[in-house]
Amino acid sequence: MKIICVGMNYANHNKELHNSLILTEPVIFMKSDTSLLKDGKPFFLPDFSEDIQYETEIVVKISRLGKNIARRFAYRYFEELTVGIDLTARDLQQRLRTAGLPWEISKSFDGSAVVGRFVGKDSLEHTLDNLPFRLELNGQTVQEGNTADMLFAIDEIIAYISRFVTLRMGDLIYTGTPAGVGTLHINDHLQGYIGERKLLDFHVR
Ligand code: ZN
Repeated sequence: MKIICVGMNYANHNKELHNSLILTEPVIFMKSDTSLLKDGKPFFLPDFSEDIQYETEIVVKISRLGKNIARRFAYRYFEELTVGIDLTARDLQQRLRTAGLPWEISKSFDGSAVVGRFVGKDSLEHTLDNLPFRLELNGQTVQEGNTADMLFAIDEIIAYISRFVTLRMGDLIYTGTPAGVGTLHINDHLQGYIGERKLLDFHVR
């Protein structure tokens, strides 16, 4: 199982991170298999970062083998999705990025890919291209997004990734975060929603 992520996929988030790149193709990176954190298990703050940030994202689970998938058929390659958190060691990422080095470890550390409960893509009361999602941190909404605001839509992302990397059943794709990212602290309580359905619920320890 591999975990593939899309960076900089919402214009309002790129603005908050002061990225002024004009993207003509999605930005792709990966997380390790040991980054997966599920079933509401707690996330333990690591000692190598002072600034672990949450990024709330729609996560798609690949349901069949695919290579060079045409965009118009991409919807056949996933059945389930959820809301997840792409945890990022922002201080480490900035340091590596400034030095022009790969920032892999700031994204792929253990527990950094949090996923909620997966639900059928056809069981949602919204269409996939207009899917509202949000994160509540200690009871306050801190991030709100809608897939309508993605720079690259889910089917475009699947088509693009599969040109380079074969997608297999069980692979996860994190589709990017909207604005509102922020730093986590010990005992924070995170709850993620798609529409009014709560799919994610865990604590920071
Ligand atoms: Zn992200």
